[in-house]
Amino acid sequence: MSQQTVVSFYDSVTNFFNKAAQHTGLPEGLLEQIRVCNAVYRMLFPVKMQDGQVKVIEAYRVQHSHHRTPTKGGIRYSNHVNQEEVMALATLMTYKCAIVDVPFGGAKGGVKINPWDYSPEVLERITRRYTTELMSRNFIGPSIDVPAPDYGTGEREMAWIYDTYRTFKGADIDAAGVVTGKPVTQHGINGRREATGRGVYYGIREACNIPEDMKRLNMTTGLKGKRLIIQGLGNVGSFSGTISQDEGGAIIVGVGEMEGAIYNKDGFDINDVLKFRKETGSILNYPGAISIPKEQRETILEYDCDILVPAALEDVISYKNAPNIKAKIVAEAANGPITSRGEEMLLEAGKIIIPDVFLNAGGVTVSYFEWLKNLSHMRFGRLEKRFDQQRLENLVGLVERTVGREISDEEKRMIARGADEIDLVRSGLEETMINAYHQIRDVMVDKPKVTDLRTAAFVSAINKISSDYMSLGIFP
Ligand code: NAD
Repeated sequence: MSQQTVVSFYDSVTNFFNKAAQHTGLPEGLLEQIRVCNAVYRMLFPVKMQDGQVKVIEAYRVQHSHHRTPTKGGIRYSNHVNQEEVMALATLMTYKCAIVDVPFGGAKGGVKINPWDYSPEVLERITRRYTTELMSRNFIGPSIDVPAPDYGTGEREMAWIYDTYRTFKGADIDAAGVVTGKPVTQHGINGRREATGRGVYYGIREACNIPEDMKRLNMTTGLKGKRLIIQGLGNVGSFSGTISQDEGGAIIVGVGEMEGAIYNKDGFDINDVLKFRKETGSILNYPGAISIPKEQRETILEYDCDILVPAALEDVISYKNAPNIKAKIVAEAANGPITSRGEEMLLEAGKIIIPDVFLNAGGVTVSYFEWLKNLSHMRFGRLEKRFDQQRLENLVGLVERTVGREISDEEKRMIARGADEIDLVRSGLEETMINAYHQIRDVMVDKPKVTDLRTAAFVSAINKISSDYMSLGIFP
């Protein structure tokens, strides 16, 4: 392929699929069924703007695979939304769910607007109208298709979607399961907001904990002390940064945002940078760091670090800048930040790429927990917390009496604490990310021709999805 060939995001995802499909030995018809988007809905609807004028809004919902239902995937508000992009993101969702054993098909939604150009009132009208459009075509529901937040949307939009659905479907006892990423006070779950970033941390930590892989990169084992650069300080980027620093001992040396980027080779406190941005409206001129102006903000990807974490948008690493990337590990927190040609070049240079289909699956994992909570109509931990606590207190008392040493009140509180919802969510997420990483890495061990984590992740996903089709009796 020529270096100048422009490969779209959707083509990149298809290329990744095709590369992995060769290693599965599955028949072409079955692979084709797994590859294609099952349903694409493009809609155009009118919304009254702040000044009273009507504007026609373009929006999409794509359900990539119905091998399991409901389908699941975020809704993106961005000026760059187009059908191919939403199809690519829906496709990734199918593989992502399979990789982390979340029993959903993949979907994605997109509304072609710059959300920062609109007042909350207009955004609410757009969100509610989009929801009713989906309802009128049976494209949304707790057992049909369950959206979640993505770029440009958050808890507020999810609450509007839930409220709109509930208005029309008040008799549906499971209505709260129509959307995830809702505010905790409105049937959301503790730990959803941080989930994708926390999953990114668990995924990077696990990759760094494998001595053979770190040895190959000439790096020490473990995340502690490793230098990170993060592009994008939104939901995913900010939590990836704060948790990697506060819990994993990583050092954040650079961050990039819309207004520019900052870098300090000795690192800075990411919590303080976030506070500075909130107060001044910008990361630029953060004390002690060099500031890179807006026009050159993408160059932050090329600064010296151990781990590069693109956490903003797709296609930011391509054949153009891949040769300049200094990081030895590129951790794809965003969806599709590396083009397929960019990936070839990074792999040829011996780097490890931790792929998006695995690394940012923390969001959908905790969304799954939220959906289960909504269907069970009860928060996690409510039944067993006090029982566990009592049992552990009895055990501590027994140990005290047997050993003859008094255990301090603080130690007792630590040992005998029953789990809250947030503890269970974090524990379930950690287990999921660690398991999935090893499932993927094991594919590389079993199939020596599979030499990168993305191909291994796709092989793992394709095998799991194909077994669903086989059990449905669709394919002999
Ligand atoms: P977000 O809107 O909260 O944050 C994105 C941030 O990136 C914003 O702060 C924006 O200003 C910044 N940004 C945009 N263009 C930039 C550029 N050129 N350089 C530097 N910064 C830039 O969105 P998010 O939810 O954090 O999503 C980020 C990525 O993660 C997307 O690719 C999304 O699909 C993916 N993702 C999100 C979730 C989730 O749970 N939110 C889950 C899985 C994947």
